[in-house]
Amino acid sequence: MELEFTPEELAFREEVRAFFQANLPDRIRDQAVRAPSFVSKEDTRFWHRALHDQGWIAPNWPKAQGGTGWNITQKHIYAEEYQAAHAPRLSSFGLTMVGPVIYTFGTEAQKARHLPGILSGDVFWCQGYSEPGSGSDLASLRTRAVLDGDDYVINGQKIWTSHAHHADWIFVLVRTDSAVKQQQGITFLLVDMTTPGLTVRPIVSIDGNHYLNEVFFVDVRVPVANRIGEENKGWTYAKFLLGHERTGIAGVAKSKAKAERLRANLARANLERGGLGDDPDARRRLAEIEVKLTGLEFTQLRALSREQTGLGVGPEASLLKIGGTEVEQALNEMLVDCLGYYAGPFETASSLRVDSNQESVVAPHGRGLMTEHLLRRAASIYGGTNEIQRNIIAKRVLDL
Ligand SMILES: Cc1cc2nc3c(=O)[nH]c(=O)nc-3n(C[C@H](O)[C@H](O)[C@H](O)COP(=O)(O)OP(=O)(O)OC[C@H]3O[C@@H](n4cnc5c(N)ncnc54)[C@H](O)[C@@H]3O)c2cc1C
Repeated sequence: MELEFTPEELAFREEVRAFFQANLPDRIRDQAVRAPSFVSKEDTRFWHRALHDQGWIAPNWPKAQGGTGWNITQKHIYAEEYQAAHAPRLSSFGLTMVGPVIYTFGTEAQKARHLPGILSGDVFWCQGYSEPGSGSDLASLRTRAVLDGDDYVINGQKIWTSHAHHADWIFVLVRTDSAVKQQQGITFLLVDMTTPGLTVRPIVSIDGNHYLNEVFFVDVRVPVANRIGEENKGWTYAKFLLGHERTGIAGVAKSKAKAERLRANLARANLERGGLGDDPDARRRLAEIEVKLTGLEFTQLRALSREQTGLGVGPEASLLKIGGTEVEQALNEMLVDCLGYYAGPFETASSLRVDSNQESVVAPHGRGLMTEHLLRRAASIYGGTNEIQRNIIAKRVLDL
């Protein structure tokens, strides 16, 4: 693999840098640094639209569907610059998850109906997979859909539904046949969140914020035209989507940007406030994380080049999910350790947002770090737990 950038690639990097510099407003950049998981919906949409207008919103989509047509080096450069600019996270449920399912398995009418809104950022999506009692063992899900004329009628409950309170549409897995093997009785439906009978209740997480929800379905009528592919074949589409979700979760570029922040914070040598200083033990911990991160970066590049050649996402998705979340959590932990006493105060999203006039007692270099650390404890759980990913590797790679 060629590791030096060519003059054309360096020019591309300059173009990306210049765009971020000129178009990412300071108020949004500031929010993305302070509370990366809680940039407001309006600001997320503003930034989404800016990227859409530029034609850069979906680097991983095929060009014919609105992708950029970039090669893997360009995608890599773009991801790195994105994080270096502290640009906010975009909602992944449309762009990374259901979008690829729709353009791969959807009807022409579904593509025409949904893809433009996903690309433009006008329509927000959420993911209705997990249920109480059906997380790792997802195929055991019990939310039922019964055919009645031209509609499915859904009854049941989803849980841990991230951003359901912001979403316009939800993609759900429902049981349409209980008499067959579990995986063979599942159907994949697209549901408008304003449909009568659908309610969303908040779950407040360990960091004190509202990010998660429960979603209840009571006689929710969904047109058959909103079904992806065939009835009872939903498991195939669900697994396709999970492969995309897991590669995205690796977050290599994001972790590299975090490692930079950690280096800067270590250099502050705030030993006197009970935090880590620039001492040999801290340097050893950082070096261990960075070695893992470099290994992960090359695995990600291999996975991207595999996808580029049309081989699809392989078991690397599980490796990336485990490695990426372990590195992210180790970085978050060390960033908090670095802060010493400043890690103590309990900040919530509202106090972290720039639109609040509440003064923080946390030093500027430490703001948002504890919230991020607490929320991302869940990174090794969502998208399929890391234990389950190890089982997948044991089966599919080690043949155990
Ligand atoms: C912050 C957050 C956001 C989320 N967002 C969404 C979302 O938007 N949409 C959605 O549908 N879901 C979402 N989830 C749910 C997530 O996908 C599930 O939490 C996850 O799949 C685990 O399921 P569970 O919570 O039921 O745990 P369980 O499956 O009950 O697992 C409990 C523990 O047992 C272990 N375990 C279970 N089975 C095995 C096994 N066979 N071998 C070894 N160990 C095993 C697990 O690894 C885990 O440690 C989110 C979760 C979190 C925490």
